[in-house]
Amino acid sequence: MKTVNHWIGGKTVEGATGAYGPVYNPATGAQDTQVALASVEEVDAAVAAAKEAFRSWGTVSLSKRTAILYKYRELLDANRDEIAELITAEHGKVHSDALGEVARGLEIVELACGIAEKLKGELSTQVSTGVDVSSIRQPLGVVAGITPFNFPAMVPMWMFPVAIACGNTFVLKPSEKDPSASRRLAELATEAGLPDGVLNVVHGDKVAVDRLLEHPDIAAVSFVGSTPIAKYIQSKAIEHGKRVQALGGAKNHMLVLPDADLDFAADNAINAAYGSAGERCMAVSVVVAVGDIGDDLVKKIADRAAKLRIGPGNDPASEMGPLITKEHRDKVAGYVHGAAAQGAEVVVDGTGYTVEGHPECADGFFIGVSLLDKVPPTADAYRDEIFGPVLCVVRAETYDEAIELINSSNWGNGTAIFTRDGGAARRFQLEVEAGMVGVNVPIPVPVGYHSFGGWKDSLFGDHHIYGNDGVHFYTRGKVVTTRWPEPSEEVGINLGFPKNH
Ligand code: NAD
Repeated sequence: MKTVNHWIGGKTVEGATGAYGPVYNPATGAQDTQVALASVEEVDAAVAAAKEAFRSWGTVSLSKRTAILYKYRELLDANRDEIAELITAEHGKVHSDALGEVARGLEIVELACGIAEKLKGELSTQVSTGVDVSSIRQPLGVVAGITPFNFPAMVPMWMFPVAIACGNTFVLKPSEKDPSASRRLAELATEAGLPDGVLNVVHGDKVAVDRLLEHPDIAAVSFVGSTPIAKYIQSKAIEHGKRVQALGGAKNHMLVLPDADLDFAADNAINAAYGSAGERCMAVSVVVAVGDIGDDLVKKIADRAAKLRIGPGNDPASEMGPLITKEHRDKVAGYVHGAAAQGAEVVVDGTGYTVEGHPECADGFFIGVSLLDKVPPTADAYRDEIFGPVLCVVRAETYDEAIELINSSNWGNGTAIFTRDGGAARRFQLEVEAGMVGVNVPIPVPVGYHSFGGWKDSLFGDHHIYGNDGVHFYTRGKVVTTRWPEPSEEVGINLGFPKNH
């Protein structure tokens, strides 16, 4: 049995408590790995290592920091395949998709390589006679990241490259369901020359998370995960005086107007709904078909769904892998089983799927893809974030009816419109209540130099993640007002509030 241990102060630290969590290979259902679950004392050790490292890292020159990040980028690039294999083994997603995740994480390391440009301050000369004012941004100190299972490499990379490039030190608490990839990311950072203690990984569950939220030496917390936990993280972090950004769950709608190319829309709906088995916070989980295109569109999606190849992620022929756990697979199946009684038409029922040609996958956490049509907004399948390969189709008579439906959702992560009408797309961009909008693009995850974040219950806090918002989140502003008086200059005594002149 492989054991995944902590990475503290630039080296492996074995779990001291004897508490371990199971890590499964979702394709086989076997538990061949365990992960150490940190105690309060082990979290404290990681925070202490980060605090000690901050004493020097916070003042290391930009050129030295950047040189390490460039080297890190090269090492990640050279080790893409290995990281993707770790992801596939513990998460289940297919290798090509895991490689895509690593590539999108690398984008943020590349952003961090250019941090000097982002940290340039502002200077105003002669704001008053002989007086200059400059605005600078400085690191916060020790910051923490808490991440979900569905992107075990990319989501940590949304956080720590920007944080450490800005001069902070970092404690990462990755998902305990697939911990190996983030551990490897930290090892490679040390190999790239990152000083010990700048990036630490503590594995664990609620015990570790709560300690990070309470610890007086943690200045800020970035969280990505489900909405109920995001809300909890935000309130507890604020209670303990910390800066916090907490990204939550989603229910992303794809609106298809009657003038859209329906084959193009159907291809995109399939890719965005069933890619990574629907375990993406930007997955399309609802298609809103406007006007009389519903029957044609549903048929096109169903025809394509029937041809998808589902199997283990390490088989290059597989297009979709299993779900993360057996419990999650059964929960997803429950939404499909309950849909008809709640008024939906079950067009494709993927529950009960078994993988052929791979006897080792008999106990894997597989489920086929499902397509539900005419789903009433009151049905559980519409109201809840299913986080599996279940696509709901809702019919709307008009654009206005469709946008009202989308805007009445509690979530507002991503959304997309499919149309050939530029005016309609422009109206949608302005009217829709979501943080990330695609126009004929189903999964509009922003590139690294823009910021990622949703609205409503998809993000708690004022800053989106990475891009300029990330730099702002991980730094605080300082304004310096300077005067170098001439030797002959006299101020005299004047108790009035200083005026500029
Ligand atoms: P989760 O909320 O269960 O877990 C996220 C993290 O919180 C993990 O590290 C976990 O150990 C920790 N955690 C879980 N329960 C906790 C508790 N009671 N107290 C303290 N910490 C706790 O999420 P998940 O199942 O790992 O990931 C899937 C969810 O993440 C989905 O809802 C998905 O939409 C969301 N997600 C959102 C984004 C985004 O950018 N908005 C991106 C990826 C995933």
